[in-house]
Amino acid sequence: MRNILVVEDSPLVLKILEHLFRQEPRLQPLFCASLGEAQVLLETSASLFFAAIVDLNLPDAPDGEIVDLVLHYHLPCIVLSGSYNEQRRDELLLKGVVDYVLKESQHSYEFAFRLLHRLERNSQVKILVAEDSEATRHFIRRVLSPHQYQIIDAEDGNEALRILHEQPDIDLFLVDHSMPGISGFDLVKLLRQKMKRHELIILGLSADAKGSLSAKFIKHGADDFLRKPFCPEELNCRVMSTLERRDMLHALKQAALFDSLTGLYNRRAFYEQGEQLFLQAQRGGQPLSVAMLDLDLFKAINDEYGHASGDTALVGFARCLREALPDTLLGRLGGEEFALVSHLDGPGLAAGLDQLRATCAQLRYAAGAPPLSFSAGIYHGAPDDLESLLHQADIRLYQAKRSGRGRTLHN
Ligand code: GH3
Ligand code: MG
Ligand code: MG
Ligand code: MG
Repeated sequence: MRNILVVEDSPLVLKILEHLFRQEPRLQPLFCASLGEAQVLLETSASLFFAAIVDLNLPDAPDGEIVDLVLHYHLPCIVLSGSYNEQRRDELLLKGVVDYVLKESQHSYEFAFRLLHRLERNSQVKILVAEDSEATRHFIRRVLSPHQYQIIDAEDGNEALRILHEQPDIDLFLVDHSMPGISGFDLVKLLRQKMKRHELIILGLSADAKGSLSAKFIKHGADDFLRKPFCPEELNCRVMSTLERRDMLHALKQAALFDSLTGLYNRRAFYEQGEQLFLQAQRGGQPLSVAMLDLDLFKAINDEYGHASGDTALVGFARCLREALPDTLLGRLGGEEFALVSHLDGPGLAAGLDQLRATCAQLRYAAGAPPLSFSAGIYHGAPDDLESLLHQADIRLYQAKRSGRGRTLHN
């Protein structure tokens, strides 16, 4: 839960913000209607707040005095304003506010929430700035700092390469084109040979007035480009939108690979990963084991204790499965059916499943519900193809069901 200080006197704006906060259970707003009220609250409880959203024009502070108060307490500050003034905007951004949101439409208020979401993640985001001009480095740091990023400076391309080598967890590389030694453009070409876009975001910078340079940067793998001099807002928008794009791609990838309930691989990803393991085992001439698992009488659990309890049981079962067989490829093939590929031999894997049987019988998933039980079939053999081994395991699973459930059969 994050506490957000909201200082705003307009009843209409408050209504909109309250509505938006209701859709964000992790963000808890605390409303103040004046500078005086905010002052009292911050004096005693500033450390409890994650960020502030403030109106520039308050009854007891008509000229943005609230911004100085909030920044004095080092709180990330998002400004709401009824009017647009470029000079005022740049002043505020350079003073250290996160951003400036115009009270125009629902969309602009939603932007304030996008900023809050980014702020939550930004302290984990590392940005490397490679720029030979000290003044520009300083300016960039000043503009980006309010967003809570971790910022690292490099004075030239070689220093940047060394830092990227030492700190492979850098998320975003902001690189000037013309620097002594290796140019920004050559750095992009070099880096893109080994780092894909989801591993490192690259933003090019140059004072060059030719449009062709930005196109060259982007064609060789930069994600975006800014021409110097740029206004603080532009830099922030581009950094934020490339980070959002990367996070969205990551979320899409996760959704395509993993089952959302249990976090295990879904059917498609399980088969894809399984094929890789098979090819490796075939090349090495090693046998593999596969198993099919199915929860026993699960329909009755849903019918008697409700679908939500069934879901709790599935999540708990997946956790026990991971704990019992840590270095194993695990997948939820669908419903209450699971599969795995392991380097253990048949008896070794059967012993792992016995341990799983004991822990999953202890799972509490609904008051008064019976112990959770499963049946399993294991097949150990030379890896011809994944499909036929899984089929062999499935035949044994079916036999386990027919001979009374709650057991593992193997060849
Ligand atoms: P058996 O021992 O023969 O496997 O009996 P069973 O009841 O487990 O098998 P059956 O195939 O008849 O029923 C499977 C049930 O699993 C039916 C379905 O409602 C339930 N199920 C499938 N997916 C989910 C899910 O995501 N959540 C919950 N709660 N139940 C699910
Ligand atoms: Mg330069
Ligand atoms: Mg079942
Ligand atoms: Mg089933």
